[in-house]
Amino acid sequence: MTDTVRVRFAPSPTGKLHIGGARTAIYNWAYARAKGGKFILRIEDTDEQRSTEENTQVILRAMSWLGLDWDEGPLVGGPVGPYRQTERMDTYAQALEVLKAKGAAYPCFCTKEELDAKRAAATEANGGYDGYDRTCRYLDPAVAAARIAAGEPHVWRLAVPEGHGPIEFDDAVYGHMSFPAEVMDDLILVRTDGMPTYNFAVVCDDANMGITHVIRGDDHLSNTPRQILIYEALGLPVPTFGHLSMILGPDGKKLSKRHGATSVEEYRDNGYLPDTVVNFLALLGWSLDGQTTIIPRDVLCSKFDLDRVTRKDAILDETKLAWMNQQYIKAMDPQQWVSLSEPWLIEAGATAQDIAQRPEWYAKLYPLIAERQTKLSEAADKLAYMFWGGQVTLDETSVTKVLRKEGARAQEALEACRSVLANEDLAWECDALQQACRDLCEPMEMKPKLLFQPLRVAVCGNMVSPPLFESIELLSRSEVLARIDATLNQVF
Ligand code: GLU
Repeated sequence: MTDTVRVRFAPSPTGKLHIGGARTAIYNWAYARAKGGKFILRIEDTDEQRSTEENTQVILRAMSWLGLDWDEGPLVGGPVGPYRQTERMDTYAQALEVLKAKGAAYPCFCTKEELDAKRAAATEANGGYDGYDRTCRYLDPAVAAARIAAGEPHVWRLAVPEGHGPIEFDDAVYGHMSFPAEVMDDLILVRTDGMPTYNFAVVCDDANMGITHVIRGDDHLSNTPRQILIYEALGLPVPTFGHLSMILGPDGKKLSKRHGATSVEEYRDNGYLPDTVVNFLALLGWSLDGQTTIIPRDVLCSKFDLDRVTRKDAILDETKLAWMNQQYIKAMDPQQWVSLSEPWLIEAGATAQDIAQRPEWYAKLYPLIAERQTKLSEAADKLAYMFWGGQVTLDETSVTKVLRKEGARAQEALEACRSVLANEDLAWECDALQQACRDLCEPMEMKPKLLFQPLRVAVCGNMVSPPLFESIELLSRSEVLARIDATLNQVF
């Protein structure tokens, strides 16, 4: 096609978007952006038993949530679609015709039972199975044609050329690779039911979609020489391959459920930001300069390259993830914080309608907790007091340690603050309110802490809440006074 970089992410919708898959998507996306190329999303749904439309939708949503916009693919279309394999069956049939015409593919009638028996016999005789013995490769073509015409079930296999030397390629990550061709089975291209195999479909699609670089997990490394044989048989140019090492859990074992969250959705539901997840996953196997950890999207999208992708397995470090999320929360835009925090604000007591009606008020909640949030989900607990109206839920420990503390004069402090806050001549504004309460210290001979702590417990329910007067300003005078009264009633 052109020399523009064209890369793709090609998930099979057999499950959610796993973080290993998300990292592959991020690398392809960032590579396309950095090279001024195109990022294509293709749904590989030929495994009809395990693929579901629901999973496809989950994957598309996860990609959108991550902000990995694709230039071509489902929902957006593109010049070389459709972008789902089950809608491209005609293209696989055409490719098979090309191979048949060249004598590079042949029908195989061996049944599963026959193949199993051969495998068992080979294992018994020499401890190993060398692959399909090519029985059907040497059938008389006229006989084979007659058997097909008679409706006998068959697959189509690739006739791997005899005497093919080693299959070699320069992997953009792993370097020079060489695989002996002798050990390559005459792999199946099309199954008995007419469905293409993964290796066949992927080559047809990558070729027809003009893919220049195939960047994918190294679980596909052993498929690559097989795919190269198919490109050769079709007479098509072979793209550049770049394989990505595995992501391991902190214990050095392959990442799995045991280690906690493994899908993008779970990260989202646990309160991580899309920016954090993209930055964090990008660094699992790639580095900008060996030391920078906060890498905004625009930097990733201009600086990403395959020569800084490592072959070493990457270890997922949750502590670093949490730290990184904190940095992104501190730096984010308050309105964006509101929209991403919506589920937890609702859990705290807000309603979606109220959030939509007065987004500026919600944006003011951001500075109350931005500095003390590791995950957005913490808003559910930390901001619940903002939605209590005139009620208050008092934390037992705070009651004991602050309100009922011997000699602390908590009741006196609360009553004094109440009268200050009840003064309608006083502007309902953080600094003014704080100053007016502080002015009580001298005449009452009380330290600010002893004066303010009871007020904090009465308004926010506990002694470790977000900033007090900033919170009070966001509540109404009547709510605050009602909470103080409720506390006085309950405790004294
Ligand atoms: N559909 C394959 C998978 O989910 C990816 C194939 C590829 O990238 O070549 O693992």
